[in-house]
Amino acid sequence: MDFNLESISPEERQELDRNVFMTTLEQIKAWARSNSLWPLTFGLACCAIEMMGTGASHYDLDRFGVIFRTSPRQSDVMIVAGTVTKKMAPLLRRLYEQMPEPKWVIAMGSCATAGGPYVKSYAVVKGVDQVVPVDVYIPGCPPNPAALIYGINKLQEKIRYEAKTGKQVTNR
Ligand code: SF4
Repeated sequence: MDFNLESISPEERQELDRNVFMTTLEQIKAWARSNSLWPLTFGLACCAIEMMGTGASHYDLDRFGVIFRTSPRQSDVMIVAGTVTKKMAPLLRRLYEQMPEPKWVIAMGSCATAGGPYVKSYAVVKGVDQVVPVDVYIPGCPPNPAALIYGINKLQEKIRYEAKTGKQVTNR
């Protein structure tokens, strides 16, 4: 049977728009990945309290498919929540390397982003992007749960955008 899009009625066109969905395998994978982010619990200081609060019942991160894991091998996103000391940095890097690809990093709070109130301390790394590549930075000291959810939503958008356009969005 010949099928010509030009020859169909507006009602049929509407019906098609409602029922036929065209995409690529890459976009489906990105959609699934972005809606099932499993963060490695990486609370390092006070920001971690807000991260834990975001995971609890009131803010309920589970509804975005975000389920915290305790093993890097089961995680695809690292939320660095707190102050990264120079002593902790190599361990953070090692855990990052143990995460399977594809993987992402969120720097939560001003300490993880740039050293925060401890920026002048000899013992503190001035931003976790000196240790691992960061995809999303969330400002604040500490950022509240709404800010963390916003950051996670931005990461989800980024994952889907990269799959759709084939372009890498980088902060590096
Ligand atoms: S950014 Fe502020 S709240 Fe977060 S870990 Fe640093 S000092 Fe604590």
